[in-house]
Amino acid sequence: MNLKDKIRNIPDFPKKGILFKDITPLLKDSEALKEAIVKLADFFRDYEIDYVVGIEARGFLIGTPLALELDKGFIPIRKPGKLPHEVLKKEYELEYGKNVLEIHKDAISDGDKILIIDDLLATGGTTYAANKMVEELGGEVVACGFLLELDALNGREILKDYEVRSLLID
Ligand code: IMP
Repeated sequence: MNLKDKIRNIPDFPKKGILFKDITPLLKDSEALKEAIVKLADFFRDYEIDYVVGIEARGFLIGTPLALELDKGFIPIRKPGKLPHEVLKKEYELEYGKNVLEIHKDAISDGDKILIIDDLLATGGTTYAANKMVEELGGEVVACGFLLELDALNGREILKDYEVRSLLID
């Protein structure tokens, strides 16, 4: 199956001038979803990993089934105010404005080997912030995985110190 056919382009979402990649057709198709998760997991089967960390919200949709496929547990990184226990908070710059992410401080222990998962790699700013949060808690980012990478935005540059694997590149 051509998985790229299951991702549609939505012009001017969420703002004028942005071409949004919508993965909901892929999620809706059980064969496509299974193929995407198994193939993405194939990249990481030989890696030594303790946990999969997924970034809210679409990183949960890919990261949790991927964690299951790899027989690992899942740790969420969430938008502010959602996690109930003590959190580490990180603010980072977006192209326009700022964003904030949180993770439970006790979610990661010293030396934990972490696979970071999000649906899409654009500028890399979100994943970079997530990686720094994991490292601040003593974890080691073994690799970062994405369903789709937008090549033109060169997210690999900011992530140059990390292993980056994307199932689809656009
Ligand atoms: P980055 O920080 O610029 O790499 O942006 C990646 C983050 O924004 C990820 O969490 C994505 O879910 C989200 N994102 C950016 N552009 C798109 C898109 O076109 N479709 C879906 N998610 C996107």
